[in-house]
Amino acid sequence: MKAVVLREFGAASNLRMESVAMPRPGRGELLVRVRACGVCYHDVINRRGNLPRTHVPAILGHEAAGEVVEVGPDTPGWKVGDRVATLQRMSCGDCALCRTGRNSLCRKDNRFFGEELPGGYAQYLVAPVLGVGRVPENMPWEVAATACCTTGTAVHTVRTRGRVQPGETVLITGASGGVGLSAVQLCKADGARVIAVTSGEAKAQALHEAGAAEVIISRGLDFAAEVRKRTGGEGVNMAVEIVGSATFDQTLKSLAPGGRLVVVGNLESGVVNLNPGLVIVKELEIIGAYATTSAELDDALKLTAAGTVRPFVSEAVPLADAGRAHFRLENREIAGRLVLIPPDLQ
Ligand SMILES: [Zn+2]
Ligand SMILES: [Zn+2]
Repeated sequence: MKAVVLREFGAASNLRMESVAMPRPGRGELLVRVRACGVCYHDVINRRGNLPRTHVPAILGHEAAGEVVEVGPDTPGWKVGDRVATLQRMSCGDCALCRTGRNSLCRKDNRFFGEELPGGYAQYLVAPVLGVGRVPENMPWEVAATACCTTGTAVHTVRTRGRVQPGETVLITGASGGVGLSAVQLCKADGARVIAVTSGEAKAQALHEAGAAEVIISRGLDFAAEVRKRTGGEGVNMAVEIVGSATFDQTLKSLAPGGRLVVVGNLESGVVNLNPGLVIVKELEIIGAYATTSAELDDALKLTAAGTVRPFVSEAVPLADAGRAHFRLENREIAGRLVLIPPDLQ
């Protein structure tokens, strides 16, 4: 089969199409013909060599969707032709965390697609059944591929971890990416008012379309004063930090007393200085949000099918152009998600 293989960590141009051996599904696994695979900033971090569990040569991509073409032995409940989309990572289905629905934190099986498991930048992918959800009948593949890591992550971040309430004001940084645009829509659907921060004028339109009440264009790191101004000096009840270390300080300063900061992205993998005094006197909560649970993937696919959260797939490009797609993402040229389409089978 054809796959984009990363043989050396580094530049986007290191992503090259090759012919590789067909994978085979083992017990509890499905062979999936990939119809679309989203390009996520996580893949950029991975390609640079900043994720310790990835070893080259590697096939990146954790946002794959396609149909089952072969079912491994002892894999009840699945058949050829079933439509699936991957979660970001695996879980065991049986430990205390999995049994309480927190399977994105499972330690017994934490393999990630595109890291320990070969990912979706390929014509085929082997997926253990605990790593996929079922895609509704008429959903386009590029929409299904990105639903998990954009809307699923937004469900996890905004609802499960952030506990957003009607009438609250929510700040979202890095809002024009896939997770951000879904989070904006979900907050609005749940009755909150959204202030979105983005890096460029060109992306403001998509944010208004998604339902942001206010859009702050800030390439620099000084938006807290602007947030205060736009909240009558109060600050926000909740903030969704998608950029991470670069904006963390300003986001923390944007919170109202009792505010909640949900950290879901850290694009540059950096560290932050934190003044504990600020957290104490305002009784702030700093909450982590990681990946998507199986139930949240189902919710995301339902929200998408119902039109409550609209996908922002900005472009579908051929799999062979994966390097170029990474380059554009790194240069902040993309509002929403780019999706890779594998070549037709010969
Ligand atoms: Zn992703
Ligand atoms: Zn588990």
